[in-house]
Amino acid sequence: MTPFDTFIMVDWSGGNDRGPRPVKDAIWACVASNGQIGEPIYLRNRGVAEAWINDTLDAALAEEQRVCIGFDFPFGYPIGFANAVTGQADPFALWRWLETRIEDSKNRNNRFDVAAEINARFDGRGPFWGNGLKRDIEGLPRNKLDYNNIFPDRRVVEEQAKGSFTCWQLAGAGAVGSQVLMGLPVLERLRRRFSGDIAVWPFEKWEAPIAIVEIWPSLFVVPPPDEMIKDAWQVQGVARALQALEPEVLANMLNVIAPEEGWIVGVGHEGMLQKDTVLAPPPLRNDCFALPAGVNWAPVDEALTLLQSRLFPVTPVETLPVKNALGRILANPVLAGRANPPLPNSAVDGYGFAGNVPAGAHRRPLIKGRAAAGVPFSGSVPEGSAVRVLTGAALPKGVDTVILEEDVTATKDIIAFNGPLKKGANARRAGEDIEAGDVLFDAGRMVLPADMALLSISGVSDVQVRSKLRVAVLSTGDELVEAGGAASNSQIYDANRPMLLSMIARFGYDSIDMGRVVDDRVALSDRLDMAADQADVILTSGGASAGDEDHVSALLEQAGAMALWRIALKPGRPLALGFWGGKPVFGLPGNPVAAMVCTLIFARPAMGLLAGEDWRDPQGFDVPADFEKSKKPGRREYLRARIRDGKVQVFASEGSGRISGLSWADGLVELEDGACVIKKGDMVRYIPYASFGI
Ligand code: AMP
Ligand code: MG
Repeated sequence: MTPFDTFIMVDWSGGNDRGPRPVKDAIWACVASNGQIGEPIYLRNRGVAEAWINDTLDAALAEEQRVCIGFDFPFGYPIGFANAVTGQADPFALWRWLETRIEDSKNRNNRFDVAAEINARFDGRGPFWGNGLKRDIEGLPRNKLDYNNIFPDRRVVEEQAKGSFTCWQLAGAGAVGSQVLMGLPVLERLRRRFSGDIAVWPFEKWEAPIAIVEIWPSLFVVPPPDEMIKDAWQVQGVARALQALEPEVLANMLNVIAPEEGWIVGVGHEGMLQKDTVLAPPPLRNDCFALPAGVNWAPVDEALTLLQSRLFPVTPVETLPVKNALGRILANPVLAGRANPPLPNSAVDGYGFAGNVPAGAHRRPLIKGRAAAGVPFSGSVPEGSAVRVLTGAALPKGVDTVILEEDVTATKDIIAFNGPLKKGANARRAGEDIEAGDVLFDAGRMVLPADMALLSISGVSDVQVRSKLRVAVLSTGDELVEAGGAASNSQIYDANRPMLLSMIARFGYDSIDMGRVVDDRVALSDRLDMAADQADVILTSGGASAGDEDHVSALLEQAGAMALWRIALKPGRPLALGFWGGKPVFGLPGNPVAAMVCTLIFARPAMGLLAGEDWRDPQGFDVPADFEKSKKPGRREYLRARIRDGKVQVFASEGSGRISGLSWADGLVELEDGACVIKKGDMVRYIPYASFGI
């Protein structure tokens, strides 16, 4: 038996009317009922939303539906607050209290004043901050400076739900505090209107015709596609996820005791929600490798363009502390949490004072004390005086300019120096590097060591990243034996698998070693099944052409979604692209030189897209050739190459059996599709291995 027939998910808003056209930061709702999921509904203000909720619940009750209705704001405050305001440790007492105080109309409400009124009760130690209005409100600080809250900053559940906001913050991007103040009165009226039929979880048992629950979409819903409004996407995502849960799983999730602070549905059970359809992006279409009709010989660039237009991320999203995010791919744009520098500070060791100093000799009295990095000078510096400042120190009040200590003659209480000195000299402006809210990185970027510094200085503690792409690697061929083992003269050691596995590791993905398979369809089919179970992508080598022993292409063909890509490329044989068990398969040529080049040129950027990365063409450099070569038109060539004395050499033999050339080289020379004649000293395009990430 399902606990609920209908799920109504609401993304609330604390602000004013947002107009008739659907926009973000308004109220959005979504109804999922009896297995169907509705389109997101736009509700332009709270009055409209409350009326819509009342009507929707009336209709559901009339049909004897059991309803779970979710709101994305806290139902309770951190422990102690309800009692301090109402004299009762009862969240509903606070709901009633707020319902009598909050005034709400389309374009005006008194939430900031009510917050200030509450703050006033705590003797300057009230919990609320973040005045979002132009006018100052006594007792409601604009920011968290000098904050001295006597209540916990977060509820227990918020300690566990990484990235959630505190309900004391009323304004600023992501702040939830205003929604709580403007939402609880509405919930209080719902309780009264549907009294007897309604339960508020987890304060009351949820087994009632209508259960109100607290949700937080960012707990598990993946970021929306570019063109979609986040709130709309999220309500639909939560409705879909909750509806998809097994009844016992949902009942177990609702089995929570949190009598005063409340709880967010799913915290502690994130895996169950993420496993579901919401977090996992939609699967690739299995015709995504199909070549346009009539194409069976594609230039490299056309093949790449086709891959680029068809592939998208297949990996779910997880939240990681910045320090663990090296090499991971950002799933969302990352915004700066604070400015750098946060306050104006000194760029040098010296003396600080106010303003422009004209040319000529100057003397200024030194006031006592100094400003150092992390140890600010608390007083203010009178006009005409100076104070000792050190590099990185916040500029004291009255200081906007610093003179280098090397340019000063100083005694204990006076400095002498020569002008001119411009206002602002040797000082760094607040935010001159980064402003709070700046976009530090877009989604799709791999986090690099330098980014650690920028994320850290900008106050970013966690980032949403893609899970690592899991890539299975297997080799095929009757002639192959495991490297290091015994081999007869007719056998060869498997060279591709160790090479491919280590390339995958260098790309930053999880490599899964699926071993070797003989040229036998049953064995190969079983092994592909295993690989598809464990991985997001499968790389095979060998057996990818169209001959008798080319079992990879034969099986992919049978599976019905194979495209044999004949790419105008040397070295390279046909590339068999297909699907097995819903997972994309790159059937690489068996020849190690061709396998490596095809991986670098095709599989790498394709896997990048699947992993959530931006499409990246490898960075190449034009370097004078230290070789001669002429080439016929019709296909692109990659030569094993290396740089010596500022010139690029190529490996003596172009034979694709010469594996030694791969190690001799430190990159590839790329020769265009057309004909070319290269003489020594001509510029050619050289792409170092490092540009491919290996
Ligand atoms: P195939 O694509 O299966 O026709 O193989 C082409 C050539 O590559 C043959 O000479 C194979 O012996 C060789 N080959 C295939 N797989 C590997 C491997 N894993 N390691 C080294 N050589 C291989
Ligand atoms: Mg073979």
